[in-house]
Amino acid sequence: MAVVLDILNEDPRKGAEGPSLAARHPEKAHRPDAPVLRKPPWIRVKAPGSAAWRETSAMLREGGLTTVCQEAACPNIGECWERKHATFMLMGDICTRACAFCNVATGRPAPLDPSEPERVAQATAKLGLSHVVVTSVDRDDLEDGGARHFAQTIVAIRAACPATTIEVLTPDFLRKKGAVEIVVAARPDVFNHNLETVPSLYVTVRPGARYFHSLRLLQRVKELDPAMFTKSGIMVGLGETRNEIMQVMDDMRSAEVDFLTIGQYLQPTRKHHAVARFVTPDEFEAFKTIAYAKGFLMASASPLTRSSHHAGEDFAKLRERRRGQLVDMD
Ligand code: SF4
Repeated sequence: MAVVLDILNEDPRKGAEGPSLAARHPEKAHRPDAPVLRKPPWIRVKAPGSAAWRETSAMLREGGLTTVCQEAACPNIGECWERKHATFMLMGDICTRACAFCNVATGRPAPLDPSEPERVAQATAKLGLSHVVVTSVDRDDLEDGGARHFAQTIVAIRAACPATTIEVLTPDFLRKKGAVEIVVAARPDVFNHNLETVPSLYVTVRPGARYFHSLRLLQRVKELDPAMFTKSGIMVGLGETRNEIMQVMDDMRSAEVDFLTIGQYLQPTRKHHAVARFVTPDEFEAFKTIAYAKGFLMASASPLTRSSHHAGEDFAKLRERRRGQLVDMD
């Protein structure tokens, strides 16, 4: 019988031995507590801990790998890990940014581990992934923002698993000249960079980032390689208006983004940005319909949609749809 949890958007390592909130989020520790809204009935997830889940967990631990599934306290970890789907997080578990929505720890990161690309490739092979998603923390401390490390990881996965398709979910590479070019030259199948929210909320939700820079990054990927699939997503329920969401969709289409994801923001701790409201499943369905009308090749919108959720199945559909488009144009 499937076990469901009311909410799992909390650090799975918390407790007596887990890292304290002050250690993980020093910049947030002294903020007043934000109000926590009760979750609606449609926010229900599978509890982690099945035998298959434990196998995935052990494999990742043995490989010494970090996942965004754990670090971001993703609500889908019970379902994804049971299916042996995990999203690798490169370059450590400490981020140089301090976004108001994110559960990844903030601080000074450790130097890069040159063995990591190969370890990720070996884990991809062991998990038998036909599609792998690789993301990272922000590394503003590195001269290239970690672009070469991404490229080396793509090369290592291609060598170890030639049939596996590769999706990168990158940071914004703000002030890192030439970084996006390095990642695109390594030829991932999908280049994903999330806009995360609407421009008016950047200053509170994503203070270290710039909306137009992120949009421009997506556009630049298409300029460099028009055949590369691009993908971007936003969270809703942070206080944005419907019109602002429509504008972000239009902006993404202007940058020729192929695939849009929209999911409900969930608050990791009382020190993080408050949930302004829970968007209903019907509203998500409407976003999806509008996204297709605006010309996205693919759209995923639901309360538990996350960038990497069902990424493999979605990539297969994306490819089919482009093929279909090309046939229609013949
Ligand atoms: S949705 Fe992505 S981040 Fe969340 S558990 Fe699944 S693979 Fe991991």
